Amino acid sequence: MQKDLKEQLARCIALMQKDVAEFEAKYQGRFAEQPHVGFGNRKTRCVNEATLPIITCHPSCLEKCAGTCYVINICTKPRPNCRRCEARNTVLRRIDPNAYYEHFYREAERLHLPIRLSDGGDFENAEQVKACIAAARRHPNVHAILYTKRIELLPELVDCPSNLHARYSAWKGDEAGEAEARRLGFDVTHVVWDGTGNCPYQKSLARFLARKNEIARELRAQGLDAKAARRRAERETEKEITVWHCRNCAERSCGCCGTGDIRFNVVGEGDWALRAAEKMVRG
Ligand code: SF4
Repeated sequence: MQKDLKEQLARCIALMQKDVAEFEAKYQGRFAEQPHVGFGNRKTRCVNEATLPIITCHPSCLEKCAGTCYVINICTKPRPNCRRCEARNTVLRRIDPNAYYEHFYREAERLHLPIRLSDGGDFENAEQVKACIAAARRHPNVHAILYTKRIELLPELVDCPSNLHARYSAWKGDEAGEAEARRLGFDVTHVVWDGTGNCPYQKSLARFLARKNEIARELRAQGLDAKAARRRAERETEKEITVWHCRNCAERSCGCCGTGDIRFNVVGEGDWALRAAEKMVRG
C-alpha cells in the first residue's frame, strides 16, 4: 500500500476510533437511541444498514481491501456525517444486536423496501449474525442482502431463512476462502472500488453522479449558488436515473427487474422486489 494512502487510512481510523469512544461514553452500555437507518434513499430504493468499515471488518481487510473500499472512498472519508452515523450504529449494535436488527427490519417492513445489510462494515461476531437471522425470521416478508468477508462466520449463516440473501465477498486471490464459501453453498462476489466503476452499483452510481454534476453546472451557470444547485441537481437526476444493484440493469439500464427494483443480483425468489417497488410507487 502506498505511503500517503496508508497515512490517509491511519487518519481515518483515528477519527473512527474517536467517534466510537464518544458514542460509547454517550450511551454508557444502554441502547439509548435507535440506529441510523438510511431510509428514503430514493437513489437505491432500499433501506441501508452500515457500521464502520475497517473497525468492524475482518482484521485482514486493512491490508487487503481498505485502500480500495468503496464505502471508505464514497462515504466514510469524505463525509464526516456518514462516518458518525456508521459509528453510532457500530456502538448500538455492540450494545444490543437484537434491538439493532429488529429496528432495521421493522422500518423496512413499514416502507415495503428490501434491506442492504452491511453496506459498510461487517458482522463482528456470531451473536450479531444470530440477531440478524432472528430478525429476518420475525419479518419473513422483508428481503435483505448482505455481503460478508467473515469466512469464519459463514457456518452461522448456512441455515438462514430464504429472505436473507448472504454472499461471500472475496478478495482477489482468496481461492481458499472462495472454495470454502462455495462448499458451504454460498454465492461469491468480488466487489472492489478502483474509481472506474467496475461493479454494477458503481457503474450505475457513476452514471448518476456524472448527470448530477452536469445539471449542477448548468444551474450554476444560471446563477444558482453551489449548495442549491447541488440539491436541485440531485432531485432532477433522481427523476432521470435509477442507481441499480441488479447487474443487468446497471450495465444496460434495461430495467429488466422493474421500476425502482433493487434486486442486488439475487436470482430466484419470484418477483418480491418488483412487488416491493410497485407498492412503493403506489404509496
Ligand atoms: S471493502 Fe468491505 S471488508 Fe473491506 S474495508 Fe470496505 S467495508 Fe470493510
